[in-house]
Amino acid sequence: MKAFRVNILSLAGLGLLSTAMLVAPLSLGEGIRPDADRKAPACLLIEPVICRSSEGKEPAVSRLDRKAIESVYAQANIQIAWLQPRYLDHTAARDGTANWKKVSKIGKERGLWESGPIRISLVFVNAIGGKPGPRGLGAIDSRPGRPFGPGGPICIVALPKKQKDPVMETFCVAHEIGHCLGLVHAVKDPLVPDNKTNIMSGGEYSERIGKNALTPSHIRQVRKSKLLWRRCVAELGGAKSSHTRSSKKQ
Ligand SMILES: [Zn+2]
Repeated sequence: MKAFRVNILSLAGLGLLSTAMLVAPLSLGEGIRPDADRKAPACLLIEPVICRSSEGKEPAVSRLDRKAIESVYAQANIQIAWLQPRYLDHTAARDGTANWKKVSKIGKERGLWESGPIRISLVFVNAIGGKPGPRGLGAIDSRPGRPFGPGGPICIVALPKKQKDPVMETFCVAHEIGHCLGLVHAVKDPLVPDNKTNIMSGGEYSERIGKNALTPSHIRQVRKSKLLWRRCVAELGGAKSSHTRSSKKQ
């Protein structure tokens, strides 16, 4: 067994929470959970990684409507725990002149994603493929062999400096998180009805992140993700504790 400690910013917009108890990811020896277990809560850790210039200046925009994103995944009984942001100081990564493969490699070399608790790394840049936001890419993995199946633990999001459409921005982030959890676009997903707006379909942005953002098949799919933990419990008020989980390799 090995212990680790994480600082979590917010589970419900409550400000800084000092510690979190994490119980082994669903993937570790659990396999796919039966339907009944989907009613049990699960936990998803998300760590923002903000790209800055190579000198550590001028960070990319990293606006996040956490509550709106949390409400989408709450539909699958997934609670999101936000980790403290980290930084990737690399001008070409920030400005989108380095492509996603390169960004993934740079982050790997700098130890930004493959060590520590299993989590989604939500990378904020100024542009993707030279194009400004809002736009994103999800389901990226720097590990060989796609250990997270159709998903992947890295998503990259570019947001405009000046906010034009907050709902669209939130959709962009929530949609990429969906890809990380293994979702594919509705047009490629035979299990998703064509006539209902959802997180992976076209339609009004407010509906795409609305109360029916996740279809029943989406819920089944995301609950299979190896990025999920069985439980996360945060303790308020500066109590320090470290907790253990299985030391099986990630
Ligand atoms: Zn997409």
